[in-house]
Amino acid sequence: MVRNESANPVTLIFNTLEKSLKRSVLFQFLFLFLFWLLVWQVGRVVEYTEHASVWFPASGFTFSCLFVLGRRALLPIMAAAIVTTIWNGNHYNLPLNLQQLAWGGFLFGLAHIIPYWLGAACIARMANNKDHSVPRLIVVFILIAGLSALLTTVMVLSSLVISQQMPIDEVRKTVLPFWVGDMAGVIVLAPLFSAILIRIFPNSNVDLSDFADNEVISYKQVAGKLGLNIVLILLTMFLAYFTGSFESSFAIFFLAVTHMWIATTETPLFNIISLAISSTLIVLLTHYLGLMDFVMVYQFAINVVAANSLFGIAIPQMKADNLQLQSLVFTDTLTNVSSRRHMVERAEQEIKESEKLNHSLILAVFDLDKFKSINDTWGHSAGDQALIQVCREVNKLLRKRDVFARFGGDEFVILMPEITIQDAQSVIESIREKIESIKIQNIFLSSSFGIAQLQKDEDFKSLFHRADQALYASKESGRNRITLAS
Ligand code: GH3
Ligand code: MG
Repeated sequence: MVRNESANPVTLIFNTLEKSLKRSVLFQFLFLFLFWLLVWQVGRVVEYTEHASVWFPASGFTFSCLFVLGRRALLPIMAAAIVTTIWNGNHYNLPLNLQQLAWGGFLFGLAHIIPYWLGAACIARMANNKDHSVPRLIVVFILIAGLSALLTTVMVLSSLVISQQMPIDEVRKTVLPFWVGDMAGVIVLAPLFSAILIRIFPNSNVDLSDFADNEVISYKQVAGKLGLNIVLILLTMFLAYFTGSFESSFAIFFLAVTHMWIATTETPLFNIISLAISSTLIVLLTHYLGLMDFVMVYQFAINVVAANSLFGIAIPQMKADNLQLQSLVFTDTLTNVSSRRHMVERAEQEIKESEKLNHSLILAVFDLDKFKSINDTWGHSAGDQALIQVCREVNKLLRKRDVFARFGGDEFVILMPEITIQDAQSVIESIREKIESIKIQNIFLSSSFGIAQLQKDEDFKSLFHRADQALYASKESGRNRITLAS
């Protein structure tokens, strides 16, 4: 996104933060500590069973801090974990003194930090590898988000039991909501928090420039798509509210469609902003409309929609990779003319077309004469240069519709649709003459040709065979000549 440095208030806030964070380590500590407390409070607002929120933004923030800042984030998060535990002690009226709560907070901090630190370190390592593939990075991130959230759940709940903040018989009912809520926090919010931290913190540990782009966002278009998401969320959630039926809550999954639309048409940054907005709205509506009976559906919807649209970021990249692969398969790497495979595919299409429209189709096969001696005398790279030069010259003499392929070694095939045999012969004659004029060191090249015209009901194999036999005849009868197949 292009930064508008002048008027944009968000940019102004980011620039101010960036300057302050650069200046002082203490400010960095305070920023992370207070921001963690803030997002933890937001998660607490939508807590629906003790210790489990619909979605837990603090897990997303922890993950992104450890991802972007690594070790630098440990102390502030640990401090915040201890403070929140002391706060929790009062909130749930636990019969524990300050020292016991601080100890419980330390255990909670460890249990919360270690799995996310492991997960974040894995994904940072992968992101920093220059050869990483974007689709794989996204899939691994989603998997790591799920696994590290599960490990955190198990460890945090254990720490709560050990520090007597939770009776053991409550663990069973808390595991799933805790896990899904934490996972939603990571999948939905960690990408956005990471983008913010990379923008404002000096010396981030990771480089996500793959996901940055310089496209100018059209605010009108973006507002339209955001509006559509909001309308869809309101409609489906009010439907569940008014009907009160469990089944109607599943309508929220239609959101996957609009988010996929955003993911494949807008910038990655807008994609993650829109995910954060949608998930926050879902969470707040679940809470304020009292849709707690359906909360698991909404938790899963947040996770599924987010994972789906994060994967959508990879789709344009996968398309580009596919095109690149396709061109590798269809192009001869040395000479850049078509590959054998491309020729066979095109020839089969052209044969069908010629039969349907009753057009003439000519196939010419040629092979350089005594080419081995070029390699033997001047070396393999001189041979390579000769092959490249032959292709360059032949291409100049062909029409756009003709297909020119290297079949292997020094053997080439030319497919000429919609041309009379006389015209084809004269093109091939000019090619023969051109090759004859190419000089490699002190040797002139020459080549032998076989030409065949497509016969009724003939397939590529037979057409090629006849042209190849004619080429063989040219070789037999002295080389540097053209033979017409019978
Ligand atoms: P002929 O007139 O019978 O065709 O004689 P020739 O020496 O050209 O023999 P043939 O076509 O059977 O051999 C082709 C030679 O082309 C064999 C190999 O040394 C050479 N060759 C094949 N592929 C490459 C390549 O990619 N680069 C180079 N430099 N040489 C190649
Ligand atoms: Mg040859």
